[in-house]
Amino acid sequence: MASPIYSFVVPIYNEEQTIQELYRRLSVVMDEMDGPVELVLVNDGSRDTSLSQMRNLAQEDKRVCYLSLARNFGHQVAVTAGLNFARGEAIVVLDADLQDPPELIPEMVKQWRQGYHVIYAQRVRRRQESWFKRSCAFIFYRLLNRLTDVKIPNDTGDFCLMDRQIVDLLNRLPERNRYIRGLRAWLGFRQTAIPFERDPRFAGDVKYTFHKSLALAIDSLVSFSKVPLRIAIYLGLFSALIALVMALLVLYWRIAQPNSPVTGFATILIAIFFLGAVQLVSIGILGEYTGRIYEEVKNRPLYTLSEVGGFSTRPAERRSQDYMNIQSAESN
Ligand code: UDP
Ligand code: MG
Repeated sequence: MASPIYSFVVPIYNEEQTIQELYRRLSVVMDEMDGPVELVLVNDGSRDTSLSQMRNLAQEDKRVCYLSLARNFGHQVAVTAGLNFARGEAIVVLDADLQDPPELIPEMVKQWRQGYHVIYAQRVRRRQESWFKRSCAFIFYRLLNRLTDVKIPNDTGDFCLMDRQIVDLLNRLPERNRYIRGLRAWLGFRQTAIPFERDPRFAGDVKYTFHKSLALAIDSLVSFSKVPLRIAIYLGLFSALIALVMALLVLYWRIAQPNSPVTGFATILIAIFFLGAVQLVSIGILGEYTGRIYEEVKNRPLYTLSEVGGFSTRPAERRSQDYMNIQSAESN
């Protein structure tokens, strides 16, 4: 196959119910593209039949290639792995559950042809997602924007088309904490949005539990903002101020009304608890940052691969040597 112009990268975690439909809808789009396409499926340690379905697809369709991470590394890492291996000039990232409609891709390509480097899809509406999830997302994106210097567009996910240049730069960013939509915004270049309505999930359960979403939210805040550290300082200053006011009050009572019983017991308890809280919160914030420094310093590879298939050209093979111990990608 000629080297692909377009790469579609899809992270997959226990999506056995959607893969066939995903492939069906993607192949309609792939057939319509004006150049060779490769479909890079990334298995993020699925425990169902996803991987064997991916193998079959790669057998049947030369355009399909796949990587299999050796365990579940999480969505962002799975996408990163896909980006490491994608060979196209324009790379599209989309979810497996068809919440990101593949039919939007030709429109993205149009913008890419006009010279945009990043074309990201921006949700104007989410259908059938819970009220709770929608409001959390709404608040989070706005909060994130207030706290960061990089302008990370509201209500955008990872669904986007990126130019080769952008993906090369992304691949070269050293950090382990990969909040892709943030890094993508940080890179700059010409970026534009395409509005879309987010469809409900095709089948299966949401893989992003509340816990995972919260972790992603904290990750993104900490890796793109130093404001939380400053909040710790403000909290400290604020509690110092309260302490000062209390001290002055006590002094005043002692001098002006020597007989008034300053009921110290409750006051002291409150002060102790308050200070304790401020300190714990501040240490927690510090910990978040230190923990990330620790992660970066360890310098482990982002992921390990247990299997690679369908890639026919050398570069992918060479790259895969870095991540696993098997001899040749072809042998699968
Ligand atoms: N996903 C993944 N690894 C994970 C969790 C999710 O690769 O640990 C994939 C999942 O298969 C899907 C995409 O990431 O293709 C988005 O997940 P999901 O639809 O559950 O989350 P949403 O973004 O809709 O909340
Ligand atoms: Mg989804």
